[in-house]
Formats: sequence, C-alpha cells, structure tokens
Amino acid sequence: LVVLRNVDKHFGALHVLRSIDLTVGRGEVVVVIGPSGGGKSTLCRAINRLETVDSGEILIDGRPLPAEGRELAALRADVGMVFQSFNLFAHKTVLENVTLGQVKVRKKDKRAAERRARELLDRVGVASQADKYPAQLSGGQQQRVAIARALAMEPKVMLFDEPTSALDPEMINEVLEVMQQLAREGMTMVVVTHEMGFARSAAHRVVFMADGRIVEETTPDQFFSNPRSDRAKDFLSKIL
Ligand code: ATP
Ligand code: MG
Repeated sequence: LVVLRNVDKHFGALHVLRSIDLTVGRGEVVVVIGPSGGGKSTLCRAINRLETVDSGEILIDGRPLPAEGRELAALRADVGMVFQSFNLFAHKTVLENVTLGQVKVRKKDKRAAERRARELLDRVGVASQADKYPAQLSGGQQQRVAIARALAMEPKVMLFDEPTSALDPEMINEVLEVMQQLAREGMTMVVVTHEMGFARSAAHRVVFMADGRIVEETTPDQFFSNPRSDRAKDFLSKIL
C-alpha cells in the first residue's frame, strides 16, 4: 500500500534520508524507532508530501505522490497524519474539526459528515466534548480528536509521529488504546513512537532508523530480544 524506493533527502548539506526502501502492506502496522535526528519525522512527512524528496519513488496504492492541488488534498486525506503537537483548528469546535475535511475534501453533505464525526468521537471516547474548543480539552482528549479527524477522511493509511510524547503520563494510555484498537481493526499504520509496549503488542514489524538509514527491519520479538546491529543494541540499552 505504501512503497518507498531508494528515497533520498537532504536539508542543505545534511543527508536526512539515505536510500530508504520500505514497503507497508495493507493492514500492516509498522513501528519506526530510533535516536533523535535519525530522520523518522522526515520519513513520515515525505509519505504525506509535507516534505519533498530529492530522488527515489514514493507510491501510495500504486500511485506516485501528486505535486499539488486537489490531488494533493486527496492524498493528504488518504494518508492521515497525527503529530506530536495536536494541531487541531483552534477556532473550530471539536465537532467542526472532525466535520470540515469531510465536507471540503470528501464532498460529503454536512449532516452526513456530522453524523460520521459524532460516531468517530464516540469511538475515541470524547463524544461529550463535541461542542468544546480544543483549548478546553486535555492533551489526551485533543489527540484522540486528532485521530478522529484523520479517520473521518477514511484514510488508506495512518501515520503517527510520536503521538504520545507531548502527553502527561496518565493520558498516554488512553491514546495508545485507541491506536491499539485501530490496529486490531486492520488499519494500515506507520507509527513513530518510543512506547515499546505498543511496539511489542501492536507492531507487525519494527523499523530501526538512525542517521537517515534503515539500519534494521524485523519483527518486534526479534528486535527487542536479539537486535542485530550495534546501533540498535546501544539504543535499546539506553531506553529499556
Ligand atoms: P526526533 O526523534 O528528535 O523527532 P527524527 O528522527 O524525527 O528525530 P527528523 O526530525 O526527521 O528526525 O530530522 C532529521 C534531521 O533533519 C535532523 O538532523 C534535523 O535537525 C534535520 N531537519 C529536520 N527538519 C529540517 C528542516 N526543515 N530544515 C533543516 N533541517 C531539518
Ligand atoms: Mg521526529
């Protein structure tokens, strides 16, 4: 469903993605981990075309990423993204946040979009917050709204870039549970996270990235019990 072939990206002299090859199949959950500055966010942003790449190919469902316009908006709807910072629309209510894209990009009528939004808000456990503004919600609630907003577009794949790392500890689990549920339902997911419990229980595959390269790509069991590379061993010894 998501294919990267020989993707390279520089920021000036800095080589942030080096010959990245990655395939994510339908229904697959891939967790990306690795040290800070390794290129994980850049990788996610490239898949969503929030960053352009210098060379190589990125395909979603067999099609190259569109450069602009309506097709780009449709791509961003197909590839849902949830960031570390919640970035909801601050001046829209929760319900409006989850309704807007459905109407503007997916061309649904407003009533159907609102119905769907309420279903999704219920599913992520924040139905009672529908008429509030983002600033009136806890971080965990905001992040769940962000997930609902992405899901409202009926994405083919969801990208999560450290969705829990800005949250207070007691809110982390409520967000991880929503993600676990999505994984169980068969959503295709690419998740950058340092939550090793989530990686162990939800990931089909772990991708370890450092210095712009995929250093190791294996099952969670293999990765956590017997990492091959020194780089991964060193990383794990610091975080576990
Ligand atoms: P972290 O775990 O800290 O989030 P990361 O693996 O997500 O790190 P990236 O954010 O992808 O790493 O950054 C990779 C490298 O590219 C870093 O050295 C970073 O400073 C640099 N970088 C990222 N975005 C830009 C930008 N817009 N302009 C210049 N350099 C950038
Ligand atoms: Mg990052």
